[in-house]
Amino acid sequence: MAMTKAASAAAKDFAAAGVGGVHLAWADNNGIPRSRVVPIAGLADAATRGVGATSLFAVFDSRDAITYGHAGLATPSGDIRLVPVVDRLRRLAGQPALAWAPVRQLTKDGEPWPYCQRAVLERQVAEGTRRGLEFRAGYELEFAVAPAGSTDVVTTPGHPGPAYSPHALVGLDGFVAALLHDFAANGLRIGQLHAEYGVAQLELSLAATDPVSAADDQLLARQTIHAAARAHGLAVSFAPLVGLGAAGNGWHLHTSVRRKGRNLLDGAENTPEGDGAGYLAGLLRDLPALTAITAPSVPSTLRLRPGYFAGAYAFWGVENREAPLRYVPGTPLLGADHANVELKTSDASANPYLALAVVLAAGMAGIEDAPALPEPIGEDPGGWTDGERETRGVRRLPADTAEQDAALLASPRIAGVLGDELLGAFRAVRASDAAWAADHTADEIVAAHLWRY
Ligand code: GLU
Ligand code: MG
Repeated sequence: MAMTKAASAAAKDFAAAGVGGVHLAWADNNGIPRSRVVPIAGLADAATRGVGATSLFAVFDSRDAITYGHAGLATPSGDIRLVPVVDRLRRLAGQPALAWAPVRQLTKDGEPWPYCQRAVLERQVAEGTRRGLEFRAGYELEFAVAPAGSTDVVTTPGHPGPAYSPHALVGLDGFVAALLHDFAANGLRIGQLHAEYGVAQLELSLAATDPVSAADDQLLARQTIHAAARAHGLAVSFAPLVGLGAAGNGWHLHTSVRRKGRNLLDGAENTPEGDGAGYLAGLLRDLPALTAITAPSVPSTLRLRPGYFAGAYAFWGVENREAPLRYVPGTPLLGADHANVELKTSDASANPYLALAVVLAAGMAGIEDAPALPEPIGEDPGGWTDGERETRGVRRLPADTAEQDAALLASPRIAGVLGDELLGAFRAVRASDAAWAADHTADEIVAAHLWRY
């Protein structure tokens, strides 16, 4: 009831300001944002009863093929309700006639739908609360720009470099200014923005917040970036890879965990201790299974090559940019609050809610079980011999869909986070993507995913 009242009040204000409709948005199992637009006059009703959508979105693959490949979702019949989360409602600065809100996916009876990814994350956050733990999370977004209408980024780069150079951004001045303005106006805090290392690549990092907001923010950030790009004659690619020889687009996921306000990841001597060490060791223990959720697409597996700062081997390091788990310590200058773990094997083809849910679950299990944390590695194990990697216990992360699937099933701790229904749908979608990819070259695979996210 309170929600309906809040929605009515917001709808009235928005309508008076010229907002005609609201994108009710979520991300599917491919990390692809989907939405329904309701007229602003319909917002209060949508907040109470939801709007209808097919249950088949859970089995859409990365190219919009409906797989029907999962027992619960094997026919064209079935409907769910999309209910906007009204306290996350925002007018879109870059699309001022529209607003945006993330949705909960409910059954027709108003119950949580087992395939709702946001609900999966909410469950993990609630589990944390039960254990006296509180999390903070923030995504970094890397993406490539090209002139609007480009079929490709590599042959028509939207900036000439050099990497990290202010000069690279001069030609994108209007776009950069719009990003800074629109992010602030949409309630998204940016830590920093720069020209990144890859072809026509940019990066911006979102400030850390609670996990569900961090995932909501990541979706809203995409909408914000796409709209600003469009208004400035540009197209952006969030795809994990824009060219086989190019640096990938990582969407690194930073997390930290607190008990009674103390950041457990803060430790002396550049290493986490006690429960902080348990959290990191938990992430490392389940890293192959985590990566099956956090970098799940065929282009994801192409991105995870050694030597590209993307994470190819399972290990952790202190500020080691080649490490899939990069421990970032607190310092006297930055304070204990700064300490966090960055997961690099994460990208836009992950559902942002599911990615965070499995990371929190792995970390909580690590705090519970305290598996031994090996010594950090400061080098790139990709440059070692097989024998050296063997001696140091460093294994390659799953390198294709079949290996990812096996890794996921090998960790009931991680697979169980999704629940049987969602796990079945998620695996069906991955299998459909892999079957398509088997008949296509790596270049064709990259091209097919370039503008999907
Ligand atoms: N572009 C790299 C990736 O694929 C990350 C580079 C960096 O360390 O920021 O994740
Ligand atoms: Mg980067």
